[in-house]
Amino acid sequence: MLEIRDLHVNYGAISALHGISLRVPQGQIVTLIGANGAGKSTTLRAVSGLVKPRSGLINLEGEEIAGMAPHTIVGRGLAQSPEGRMVFANLTVMENLRMGAYLRKDKANFAKDLDYVFCIFPRLKEREWQAAGTLSGGEQQMLAIGRALMSKPKLLMLDEPSLGIAPLLVKTIFEKIVEINKELGLTILLVEQNANLALEVSHYGYVLETGKIILENTSAELRVNEKVRAAYLGG
Ligand code: ATP
Repeated sequence: MLEIRDLHVNYGAISALHGISLRVPQGQIVTLIGANGAGKSTTLRAVSGLVKPRSGLINLEGEEIAGMAPHTIVGRGLAQSPEGRMVFANLTVMENLRMGAYLRKDKANFAKDLDYVFCIFPRLKEREWQAAGTLSGGEQQMLAIGRALMSKPKLLMLDEPSLGIAPLLVKTIFEKIVEINKELGLTILLVEQNANLALEVSHYGYVLETGKIILENTSAELRVNEKVRAAYLGG
């Protein structure tokens, strides 16, 4: 579904990614773990077209998308729930979900997909008319994911869904991510600092350190890997 090859990204003179390669196969949840500043968000930004790579290939479903404009890439079936959620604060929950569906081609299934989002996140249904900015952090995260789903993506990228959310809600949100993957067969690239959770829900993982991938394996293997345990799973 997604293949990145030898991707280099610079911010001015600073090199943020120096030659990373990874694959996200159809129907899987793949996670990218790593400390602050490792380059996780930069990887997602390069895929969604928000930063232009210096070099490297980014292939989405057989098409080269590196360097394309973000709205063109969205049109190719990519949706992202960004770090810090970024819902439209002054719009209602319903209006945010409508915005998610704005670019999609088949409008016919809008109602069905809306039902699915409300079924996965009943809290959003209860708060349909509430301004998104007044939702709790966890609810805003649900809305950001729901809005991404409304674009009917082929690939969903989630940037730090656990960030700043109460532990109980984090658990719920990760259960929902697994549910969405299983029920819709949706391919997911998950960036997460909470390596424990990320490796629990994903099929395969990559460990990023200062702009390089230093380890990759099935998530089950990474969870028992000595280095991963010492550096990311609290020993
Ligand atoms: P975090 O978990 O803290 O979000 P991350 O792994 O997502 O970290 P990135 O945000 O991708 O890391 O940052 C990678 C590196 O690029 C860091 O050294 C960061 O300071 C730098 N960087 C990110 N954005 C910019 C920018 N707009 N201008 C200059 N440097 C940047």
